[in-house]
Amino acid sequence: MKFIIFITIIIVLYCVLHSYLPFLNFAGKNSIASGKKNIESTEKGYAWKRKRMVEQQIIARGVRDKKVLEAMESVPRHLFVPKGYREYSYYDQPLPIGLGQTISQPYIVALMTEMLEVDNDAVVLEIGTGSGYQAAVLSTIVKEVYTIEIIKELGLKAEEKLKNLGYNNVNVKIADGSLGWPDKAPFDAIIVTAAAEKIPDPLVKQLKPGGRMVIPVDSSFFGQDLLIVEKDEAGNINIKKTIPVRFVPLVEGEEVTK
Ligand code: SAH
Repeated sequence: MKFIIFITIIIVLYCVLHSYLPFLNFAGKNSIASGKKNIESTEKGYAWKRKRMVEQQIIARGVRDKKVLEAMESVPRHLFVPKGYREYSYYDQPLPIGLGQTISQPYIVALMTEMLEVDNDAVVLEIGTGSGYQAAVLSTIVKEVYTIEIIKELGLKAEEKLKNLGYNNVNVKIADGSLGWPDKAPFDAIIVTAAAEKIPDPLVKQLKPGGRMVIPVDSSFFGQDLLIVEKDEAGNINIKKTIPVRFVPLVEGEEVTK
């Protein structure tokens, strides 16, 4: 009996250690290379978590677009999350990014990106830059991303981060995004990552015929619905309701803050 308990403990210990191996760093404490190794092994650990995130949260829920899955596996989400929350970067949930705003749950980022149905010649407008993560994901798939943030502090920080990480086809503007970006219109696709009371008219106008917008809008009943707004070649609008979602509100007609 004692022997069986002993063997069970050994097996459990082995399993626990084995599953945490990617995060352990066996480099000698005084080794000069130890700092560098630490970073490398952490990056390896994050890459492993990202792969698991894609399998367990995104593919498992039905996202199939290969470009989207590759983008979600390559963009280092932990670098867009405040340091104090980094260990939760690949959890199945949104996270705070400061100033009362949030970075969306990974699955929602992937789903909305897939819903845009864009490829490498598309020009996309995003409303609600936030951390810059959604813009980075899009930038690996499309030709050009234009993204608008109303909170100056967040917009400037995201702009710098995107530049430092080499996402050079992303253009950030600090403004009220509900007015769109008229000089750069029309857009193949528009993604709004804050919930609107109703679909802003300027955004519909700035959508190319044949293009689509993905936007969370307050439901007449309760909560918000994620809508796909399609403009056909003749300019007719078709609106499809998809899943219920929860986003921070789109503030319209307000001065840029901070
Ligand atoms: N896409 C972001 C998360 C967005 S959170 C990411 O990947 O991290 C929603 C963002 O929309 C917030 O940063 C908020 O400040 C911004 N926002 C709200 N109303 C806005 C408006 N009218 N124009 C531009 N940005 C707006």
